This record gives sequence, C-alpha cells and structure tokens, in this order.
Amino acid sequence: MSSKHVTHWINGKPSTSVAGRRGDIYEPSTGRLSGTVDFAAQAEIDAAVAAAKAAFPGWRDTSLAQRAKILFRFRELLTEHRDELARLISSEHGKVVSDAAGEVARGLEVVEFACGVPHLLKGGFSENVSSRVDAYSILQPLGVVAGITPFNFPAMVPMWMFPVAIACGNTFILKPSEKDPSASVRLAELWAEAGLPDGVFNVLHGDKIAVDGLLHHPDVKAVSFVGSTPIARYIYETAARKGKRVQALGGAKNHMVVLPDADLDLAADAAVSAGFGSAGERCMAISVVVAVDPVGDELLSKINERVARLKVGPGDDPESEMGPLVTREHRDKVASYLDSGVAQGATLAVDGRETRVPDGEGFWLGPTVLDHVTPEMDAYRDEIFGPVLSIVRVGSYEEAMALLDANPYGNGTAIFTNDGGAARRFQNEVEVGMVGINVPIPVPMAYYSFGGWKASLFGDSHAHGMEGVHFYTRTKAVTARWLDPSHGGVNLGFPTNG
Ligand code: NAD
Repeated sequence: MSSKHVTHWINGKPSTSVAGRRGDIYEPSTGRLSGTVDFAAQAEIDAAVAAAKAAFPGWRDTSLAQRAKILFRFRELLTEHRDELARLISSEHGKVVSDAAGEVARGLEVVEFACGVPHLLKGGFSENVSSRVDAYSILQPLGVVAGITPFNFPAMVPMWMFPVAIACGNTFILKPSEKDPSASVRLAELWAEAGLPDGVFNVLHGDKIAVDGLLHHPDVKAVSFVGSTPIARYIYETAARKGKRVQALGGAKNHMVVLPDADLDLAADAAVSAGFGSAGERCMAISVVVAVDPVGDELLSKINERVARLKVGPGDDPESEMGPLVTREHRDKVASYLDSGVAQGATLAVDGRETRVPDGEGFWLGPTVLDHVTPEMDAYRDEIFGPVLSIVRVGSYEEAMALLDANPYGNGTAIFTNDGGAARRFQNEVEVGMVGINVPIPVPMAYYSFGGWKASLFGDSHAHGMEGVHFYTRTKAVTARWLDPSHGGVNLGFPTNG
C-alpha cells in the first residue's frame, strides 16, 4: 500500500506543515501504517485563523440566497461522493462501509437543514412599539469559529457544526481527529468545488498544540467540541476563560432499561445492534442493559444467540457487520475491561477475544457480553467505548432509575416496554438529554438538536437544529424611528412607551 500524506487545508488549498511534526495513520483491519498527517504548529494555526478572518467580511455580506445556493451544491456533491467518503472513513476508522455511508447520510441531513438558512435567520419585527417607533431583531454571525472533533465520526460530527456555522455567515476552522483525518480534507475539496470562497472553511490537523492554539487565539470567537469528557471539560473551561462562546460535548455511558412487559426479541435485537454497531465506538452506543427482574436470564440468552451470529471482519467486506477498533492501544484498553470485569465479579457471557477474526495484525476484538455487572466495577464506571455490553440486573423500575440518576453521564438512554404510562414516566423523570422509547439509538434529526446532560455536555447549547443557529449567531435588537418635526425637543427621562 502506498503511503499517503494528509495535510492542512488553508485558504482554499492544501498547505503542508512547516513544523515537521507528524502523526501516523493506520489501517485498523490490517494494523498497517497507511500514511502520516501533518501536525500544526503556531505558524499554521496563525495562517488558518488569518485566512478565516480575512474571508469573514465577504462571507458575512454574501446574500442568503447565494449562501443557500452553495450549500445546495455542496449537498449534491456530498450525495454524489457518499460511497467514496464512506470507503475513506472505513479505511482509517475501521467501521464497515455501510455504517460509514450512514454517518455521511446523517451529516448530509444537517447540510439540508442548513440549506434553509434564509428561513432560519429570520428575526422578529414589531411595528409601533411606541408611537411611530418599530423594534426588530437581527441574527448576525460571530466571525471565525472553530470545531474540534473526535475519531469516531470523522464526517458526521464535523457536519453537526460547519454547515450551520457557515450558513449563518461565519468562517470555520475544523481540527479533526488525528486518527482518521482524510475525510475532512475531502469535505474541504467538495466545499471548494461547490463554490465556497477561499478561507471560509479550513482544516487544521494536529494534537493538543493545534487545539490549544485555537483556544488561545484572540480571533477565534467560538469553539464547538465533541470528544471525551475530560477533554470536553478542559475545552469548556479554557475557552470560556478566554471569553469565547463554547459548547463541549463529552463522553457517555448509555443505559437501556428493559421492563418485564417488553418484547424481549425486539429488545435483544436493539441491544445487540446498538451495542456492537461501529464496534461500540459511538457516543450513542448502548453500553449497559438494565434488565428489570425477571427478564435477565431470558434476555441474556436472546442477546447471546444474536451475538454468536455477528460477522466480524474488514470494513470493506460487504459481509462484515462489525469491524476492528480504531487503534491497537484502544483495542488493548477495551480488552482490559474483560479481565477487570471478571476479577471484580462479573461473568463473561461472551468473550470477544475468542471471536474468529481475520488473520494478521488488525486491531480486532469481537463482541463481548459481561453479565452481573455492578456499579462499583471499572467496566461499569468507565466509558469503555468498544464492543462490550454490560448487563446489570435490578429488581424494579425505581432501582433502574436510581442507577441512571447516580451515573455521571447523561448523553442517551432508552426504555423498552409496551406500557405507555411507564415510558411516559421515564421520559419525564430521566436526567438524560436524548431519550429513546423502544428506540435504542435516539439520535435527534438535524432540525432538532443533539446533546446530552450532566458530564456529557458542558455549555448551554446543543449541536445543530435551532440551538446550533443560536450558538453561531448573536442577536441584535434595533429600535428605529424615522424622524419628522413632531419628534423635536430634549427629554432626559427614561424612554417609555407612548
Ligand atoms: P478525545 O477527547 O480523545 O479527542 C477529541 C478531540 O480532542 C480530538 O480532535 C483530539 O485531537 C483532541 N484532543 C485529545 N486530547 C487532547 C488534549 N489533551 N488537549 C486538547 N485536545 C485534545 O476523543 P476521541 O477518542 O477522539 O473520541 C471518543 C470520545 O468522544 C468518546 O468519549 C465519545 O463518547 C466522545 N463522543 C461524544 C459525542 C457526543 O455527542 N457527546 C459524539 C462522539 C464522540
């Protein structure tokens, strides 16, 4: 395999790093080094911010009709190149191509939402708030904004951010994950082909140095982050201290509660799909099944049957349902929870280390089911972010709810039941941002907003939908009076209506 070299995209063209620092890119299904990616230093950070800053006045003043036209063209190009993007993602991330195509499709939905920008940016207008005085509000862009994104959705998560930010008139710098950086550059090329002016969308690769450079740069007005909770907290605190607007989405530990009246076949299908899709490397993956007595044994046996039939293999093999993990280190860390789980009293119902996987040095770990997990165990407390499904058995709905309440994360959750009253009570009581009722991965549509509660999100606004529009705009309230001679005369009183 020829070795590729991925570089930054600044001011509408590729820009090789002068710093000389680089990271390695792997092919997870073989373990082979497939290329390198430039890591930005201060010079590239400054160049990207300067390009975005220079592009801002022109883009801010570009008509809504023209912005929408470019977004529509970008949408067409994304659709045309969806399979190519999916293969690129799969080759660096490891997920199966159909799953990668799914993430492009979900990103595309946000582009479609952003195509409605003329409607989204409508302000309010009140005529005659006082005699011959009108009041109205206008939504204006912030300037240069940055997005810092995780490895697990190299196309979709950036597309939670930049279509809305750009549609609103901002210019954007994406700092994608250094583990699978190629999709972001391909997206930049598609933007250029769609006619986006140079400097409106830039990609800066790298590690903490690139991130810190953006967090500390005075010309970056807002930061959107998606990644693990410790880094989300750091981004939130650092960016806020620098006076920036910030939204930082963190990690997750999503519980799926199965009540005694649930259809256990459907619940088992859902648990296996949501637990092992993308090898569990999804922030909305189900990682804990909470089985309310007496469903535990029967549900476990239905889950085990389904897990035994899963096909683990390379992402580009259409037969594969689950690919490898993203890196060797991550695979080893995930596998360590199998040992710690057993040492701390869990039962290994399915051991993913025994799954038949392709020969070679790929980062493989098969689907694993840990039963009789309890809240003190590391496998329960940590976000494993891999193909490990934990089963916790509880005696009642109240006990299930207490478990969810005590968990520090609040990204997604699901309840499986045929009892509408129980589901409604759950939706009302649960301290989690995204709730599924007989839906295991309740990812909101683009016109709603994506975000968790508790340690799964720092900041006030969720991603995309109207919260995204509000995050990427500032509201200005205008009070206007067109003068005529009757308005003469000095009056030092506070303006009141009349
Ligand atoms: P990560 O936190 O390691 O990295 C995310 C981004 O932060 C990357 O661009 C990375 O380069 C950068 N980064 C890493 N360490 C840094 C540091 N010390 N200082 C500054 N920047 C740093 O996350 P990941 O491993 O790429 O992704 C997996 C995590 O993302 C999981 O925790 C998952 O739950 C979370 N995630 C959350 C959501 C959500 O919507 N809440 C969505 C997807 C992924």
